Amino acid sequence: MNYFELGDGEVHITENQIQTRIKELGAKISQDYAGTQPHLICVLNGAYHFMSDLTRAIQLPLTVDFLAVSSYGVETKTSGEVKLVKDLSLPLAGREVILVEDIVDTGLTMSYLLHYLEGRGPNSVKVAALLSKPSRRKVEVPVAYLGFEIPDAYVYGYGLDRAHFDRNMPFISSIKS
Ligand code: IMP
Repeated sequence: MNYFELGDGEVHITENQIQTRIKELGAKISQDYAGTQPHLICVLNGAYHFMSDLTRAIQLPLTVDFLAVSSYGVETKTSGEVKLVKDLSLPLAGREVILVEDIVDTGLTMSYLLHYLEGRGPNSVKVAALLSKPSRRKVEVPVAYLGFEIPDAYVYGYGLDRAHFDRNMPFISSIKS
């Protein structure tokens, strides 16, 4: 049985490539944050697999929290509007925060979230993003830990949705836009 389907676009990142890269990112974060207890914040919904695998690749005591922002719905282009639909549960004061995102596209979501988090008094905030589409950027955002750079294509799988479906695919694929 093979339920999961490849798209007709040019991006295809295999389960193996994703897991290998996440182990590398986890090792780097473990090194950079040695002696601290980082606080990882997952941006729902798209980053849920990345968050789960990344936290298990970090060899440090850490805490987790989750927030959710409004998504495209069934559209495949961003509206540019960012709305917080689920807030954090834990305080950030004095913490070393790592914001865990699925993909940085225009950068508007990340830019909004960075300002929001910085207002809550953390010691530091860095970004871990699985994917980035640099050619689509409208605002520059610093990504300290990046999985893969991809071209301007609509990608889905491994947490990313295609009209709410396909988040359960273990690999990432794309459709022609
Ligand atoms: P940005 O604000 O334009 O950077 O968009 C960021 C958010 O848009 C991501 O967190 C995703 O939820 C969504 N997004 C952007 N590109 C894609 C894509 O190719 N597939 C699925 N979701 C995407």
